[in-house]
Amino acid sequence: MPLRYRAMKILLATTNPHKFDEIRAVMNDPSLEWMTLSDWPDPIEEPVEDGATFEDNAALKARYYAQATGLATLADDSGLEVDALDGRPGVHSARYSGKQGSRETVDLANNRKLLNEMRGKVNRAARFVCAMAVHRPGDDRPWAMVRGTIEGRILSTDELDPASPERGRGGNGFGYDPLFQLDAMGKTTAELEPDHKNRISHRGNAARDMWRQLRLLIKSGEQ
Ligand code: IMP
Repeated sequence: MPLRYRAMKILLATTNPHKFDEIRAVMNDPSLEWMTLSDWPDPIEEPVEDGATFEDNAALKARYYAQATGLATLADDSGLEVDALDGRPGVHSARYSGKQGSRETVDLANNRKLLNEMRGKVNRAARFVCAMAVHRPGDDRPWAMVRGTIEGRILSTDELDPASPERGRGGNGFGYDPLFQLDAMGKTTAELEPDHKNRISHRGNAARDMWRQLRLLIKSGEQ
Protein backbone atom coordinates (compact mmCIF):
# COMPACT_ATOMS: atom_id res chain seq x y z
CA MET A 1 0.00 0.00 0.00
CA PRO A 2 1.40 3.46 -0.84
CA LEU A 3 2.54 5.53 2.13
CA ARG A 4 0.40 8.62 2.68
CA TYR A 5 1.77 11.76 4.31
CA ARG A 6 -0.02 14.89 5.40
CA ALA A 7 0.89 17.57 2.81
CA MET A 8 3.33 20.02 4.34
CA LYS A 9 2.76 23.69 3.59
CA ILE A 10 6.04 25.35 2.78
CA LEU A 11 6.90 28.92 1.89
CA LEU A 12 9.57 29.58 -0.69
CA ALA A 13 11.16 32.84 0.39
CA THR A 14 11.46 34.42 -3.02
CA THR A 15 9.50 36.59 -5.42
CA ASN A 16 11.75 35.50 -8.30
CA PRO A 17 9.62 33.29 -10.59
CA HIS A 18 12.72 31.66 -12.14
CA LYS A 19 13.87 30.39 -8.76
CA PHE A 20 10.39 29.14 -7.92
CA ASP A 21 10.14 27.24 -11.21
CA GLU A 22 13.62 25.74 -10.78
CA ILE A 23 13.00 24.61 -7.22
CA ARG A 24 9.45 23.39 -7.74
CA ALA A 25 10.52 21.39 -10.80
CA VAL A 26 12.73 19.34 -8.46
CA MET A 27 10.41 19.21 -5.44
CA ASN A 28 7.19 18.61 -7.32
CA ASP A 29 5.41 16.21 -5.01
CA PRO A 30 1.93 15.99 -3.48
CA SER A 31 3.47 15.86 0.00
CA LEU A 32 4.47 19.53 -0.38
CA GLU A 33 2.09 22.44 -0.79
CA TRP A 34 4.09 25.45 -2.01
CA MET A 35 3.59 29.18 -1.51
CA THR A 36 5.88 32.06 -2.43
CA LEU A 37 6.20 35.52 -0.95
CA SER A 38 4.13 36.79 -3.91
CA ASP A 39 1.18 34.68 -2.61
CA TRP A 40 1.45 36.17 0.90
CA PRO A 41 -1.35 38.70 1.43
CA ASP A 42 0.74 41.47 3.04
CA PRO A 43 4.18 42.66 1.98
CA ILE A 44 6.88 41.58 4.42
CA GLU A 45 9.91 43.81 4.83
CA GLU A 46 13.09 42.07 3.61
CA PRO A 47 15.69 41.02 6.19
CA VAL A 48 19.24 42.40 6.01
CA GLU A 49 21.44 39.73 4.43
CA ASP A 50 24.61 40.42 6.39
CA GLY A 51 25.82 36.84 6.92
CA ALA A 52 29.49 36.00 6.33
CA THR A 53 28.64 32.85 4.35
CA PHE A 54 25.96 31.64 1.93
CA GLU A 55 24.74 29.28 4.66
CA ASP A 56 24.42 32.13 7.18
CA ASN A 57 22.31 34.15 4.74
CA ALA A 58 20.10 31.22 3.72
CA ALA A 59 19.50 30.37 7.40
CA LEU A 60 18.77 33.93 8.47
CA LYS A 61 16.29 34.44 5.60
CA ALA A 62 14.52 31.13 6.22
CA ARG A 63 14.26 31.81 9.96
CA TYR A 64 13.07 35.39 9.46
CA TYR A 65 10.25 34.44 7.06
CA ALA A 66 9.26 31.36 9.09
CA GLN A 67 8.79 33.60 12.11
CA ALA A 68 6.98 36.29 10.09
CA THR A 69 4.51 33.87 8.49
CA GLY A 70 4.28 30.91 10.88
CA LEU A 71 5.09 28.58 7.95
CA ALA A 72 8.03 26.26 7.38
CA THR A 73 10.19 28.25 4.96
CA LEU A 74 12.79 27.39 2.36
CA ALA A 75 15.31 30.12 1.50
CA ASP A 76 18.45 30.08 -0.57
CA ASP A 77 21.48 32.26 -1.02
CA SER A 78 23.71 31.92 -4.01
CA GLY A 79 26.59 33.58 -5.76
CA LEU A 80 29.88 33.25 -7.58
CA GLU A 81 33.22 32.37 -5.95
CA VAL A 82 36.36 33.10 -7.98
CA ASP A 83 39.60 31.49 -6.82
CA ALA A 84 41.93 34.22 -8.15
CA LEU A 85 39.86 36.80 -6.24
CA ASP A 86 40.02 34.92 -2.92
CA GLY A 87 36.41 33.84 -3.30
CA ARG A 88 34.97 37.24 -4.30
CA PRO A 89 32.32 38.34 -5.15
CA GLY A 90 30.92 35.56 -2.89
CA VAL A 91 28.06 36.67 -0.67
CA HIS A 92 28.27 40.11 -2.30
CA SER A 93 27.58 38.73 -5.81
CA ALA A 94 24.28 40.57 -6.28
CA ARG A 95 25.72 43.95 -5.26
CA TYR A 96 29.32 43.48 -6.45
CA SER A 97 29.55 46.65 -8.58
CA GLY A 98 27.41 48.76 -6.26
CA LYS A 99 25.33 49.78 -9.29
CA GLN A 100 21.57 50.26 -8.77
CA GLY A 101 18.92 49.87 -11.43
CA SER A 102 17.17 47.20 -13.46
CA ARG A 103 18.35 43.60 -13.24
CA GLU A 104 20.01 43.94 -16.66
CA THR A 105 21.85 47.16 -15.72
CA VAL A 106 23.13 45.63 -12.49
CA ASP A 107 24.14 42.34 -14.17
CA LEU A 108 26.11 44.17 -16.88
CA ALA A 109 27.89 46.39 -14.32
CA ASN A 110 28.78 43.34 -12.20
CA ASN A 111 30.09 41.50 -15.26
CA ARG A 112 32.17 44.51 -16.31
CA LYS A 113 33.73 44.70 -12.84
CA LEU A 114 34.43 40.97 -12.83
CA LEU A 115 36.21 41.12 -16.21
CA ASN A 116 38.28 44.11 -15.00
CA GLU A 117 39.31 42.37 -11.78
CA MET A 118 40.20 39.23 -13.73
CA ARG A 119 42.35 41.05 -16.29
CA GLY A 120 45.69 39.21 -16.62
CA LYS A 121 44.76 36.41 -14.18
CA VAL A 122 45.88 32.99 -15.36
CA ASN A 123 43.85 30.96 -12.87
CA ARG A 124 40.24 31.57 -13.94
CA ALA A 125 38.59 28.77 -11.95
CA ALA A 126 35.28 29.70 -10.37
CA ARG A 127 32.10 28.11 -9.05
CA PHE A 128 28.50 29.00 -8.48
CA VAL A 129 27.39 28.12 -4.96
CA CYS A 130 23.88 27.78 -3.59
CA ALA A 131 23.11 27.23 0.10
CA MET A 132 19.54 26.24 0.86
CA ALA A 133 17.92 26.16 4.31
CA VAL A 134 14.53 25.12 5.63
CA HIS A 135 13.42 26.62 8.93
CA ARG A 136 10.33 25.88 10.97
CA PRO A 137 8.68 28.63 13.01
CA GLY A 138 9.79 28.58 16.63
CA ASP A 139 12.98 26.57 15.98
CA ASP A 140 16.38 28.07 16.77
CA ARG A 141 18.29 26.13 14.15
CA PRO A 142 17.54 25.22 10.52
CA TRP A 143 15.61 21.99 10.07
CA ALA A 144 17.72 21.17 7.01
CA MET A 145 20.67 22.83 5.27
CA VAL A 146 22.46 21.89 2.03
CA ARG A 147 25.02 23.33 -0.39
CA GLY A 148 25.15 22.78 -4.16
CA THR A 149 27.94 23.88 -6.49
CA ILE A 150 28.93 23.87 -10.15
CA GLU A 151 32.54 24.37 -11.28
CA GLY A 152 33.51 26.49 -14.26
CA ARG A 153 35.87 29.15 -15.62
CA ILE A 154 35.53 32.90 -16.11
CA LEU A 155 35.98 33.79 -19.78
CA SER A 156 38.62 36.38 -20.62
CA THR A 157 37.95 39.48 -22.71
CA ASP A 158 39.92 38.09 -25.66
CA GLU A 159 37.37 35.24 -25.92
CA LEU A 160 34.52 37.78 -26.11
CA ASP A 161 33.16 40.45 -28.42
CA PRO A 162 35.51 43.44 -27.86
CA ALA A 163 32.61 45.87 -28.40
CA SER A 164 30.69 44.55 -25.35
CA PRO A 165 32.63 41.88 -23.46
CA GLU A 166 30.39 42.32 -20.39
CA ARG A 167 27.53 40.77 -22.41
CA GLY A 168 29.56 37.55 -22.53
CA ARG A 169 28.11 34.66 -24.55
CA GLY A 170 24.54 33.35 -24.58
CA GLY A 171 21.09 34.80 -24.06
CA ASN A 172 19.65 32.52 -21.35
CA GLY A 173 20.08 32.66 -17.60
CA PHE A 174 20.98 35.79 -15.65
CA GLY A 175 23.74 37.35 -13.58
CA TYR A 176 27.21 36.00 -14.32
CA ASP A 177 25.95 33.18 -16.58
CA PRO A 178 27.27 34.72 -19.85
CA LEU A 179 30.84 34.79 -18.43
CA PHE A 180 30.76 31.37 -16.74
CA GLN A 181 32.16 28.74 -19.07
CA LEU A 182 31.70 24.97 -18.67
CA ASP A 183 34.80 23.85 -20.52
CA ALA A 184 33.70 20.22 -20.88
CA MET A 185 30.74 21.45 -22.97
CA GLY A 186 32.42 24.45 -24.55
CA LYS A 187 29.43 26.56 -23.47
CA THR A 188 28.58 29.19 -20.90
CA THR A 189 25.65 28.55 -18.57
CA ALA A 190 23.83 31.31 -20.53
CA GLU A 191 24.13 29.10 -23.63
CA LEU A 192 22.34 26.15 -22.00
CA GLU A 193 18.61 25.56 -22.27
CA PRO A 194 16.99 26.32 -18.88
CA ASP A 195 16.12 22.63 -18.30
CA HIS A 196 19.70 21.63 -18.96
CA LYS A 197 21.04 24.29 -16.60
CA ASN A 198 18.63 23.14 -13.85
CA ARG A 199 19.86 19.56 -14.18
CA ILE A 200 23.47 20.50 -13.47
CA SER A 201 23.37 23.86 -11.67
CA HIS A 202 24.32 24.73 -8.10
CA ARG A 203 20.64 25.49 -7.36
CA GLY A 204 19.42 22.28 -9.01
CA ASN A 205 22.00 20.25 -7.06
CA ALA A 206 21.07 21.95 -3.78
CA ALA A 207 17.35 21.48 -4.48
CA ARG A 208 17.78 17.74 -5.19
CA ASP A 209 19.82 17.28 -2.03
CA MET A 210 17.29 19.28 0.00
CA TRP A 211 14.47 17.21 -1.43
CA ARG A 212 16.23 14.00 -0.32
CA GLN A 213 16.55 15.42 3.21
CA LEU A 214 12.97 16.73 3.36
CA ARG A 215 11.58 13.42 2.17
CA LEU A 216 13.34 11.64 5.03
CA LEU A 217 12.17 14.21 7.57
CA ILE A 218 8.58 14.12 6.32
CA LYS A 219 8.60 10.33 6.21
CA SER A 220 9.86 10.13 9.77
CA GLY A 221 6.82 12.20 10.76
CA GLU A 222 8.99 15.05 12.00
CA GLN A 223 6.70 17.88 10.85
P1 IMP B 1 20.70 35.52 -4.79
O1 IMP B 1 20.77 34.13 -4.32
O2 IMP B 1 19.44 35.81 -5.53
O3 IMP B 1 20.99 36.49 -3.69
O4 IMP B 1 21.84 35.66 -5.90
C1 IMP B 1 22.97 36.47 -5.74
C2 IMP B 1 23.63 36.80 -7.03
O5 IMP B 1 24.50 35.71 -7.40
C3 IMP B 1 22.73 37.01 -8.24
O6 IMP B 1 22.25 38.33 -8.28
C4 IMP B 1 23.70 36.72 -9.38
O7 IMP B 1 24.50 37.84 -9.62
C5 IMP B 1 24.56 35.61 -8.80
N1 IMP B 1 24.02 34.29 -9.18
C6 IMP B 1 23.39 33.39 -8.38
N2 IMP B 1 23.01 32.31 -9.08
C7 IMP B 1 23.37 32.54 -10.36
C8 IMP B 1 23.22 31.79 -11.56
O8 IMP B 1 22.64 30.70 -11.61
N3 IMP B 1 23.72 32.37 -12.66
C9 IMP B 1 24.34 33.58 -12.66
N4 IMP B 1 24.49 34.31 -11.58
C10 IMP B 1 24.02 33.81 -10.42
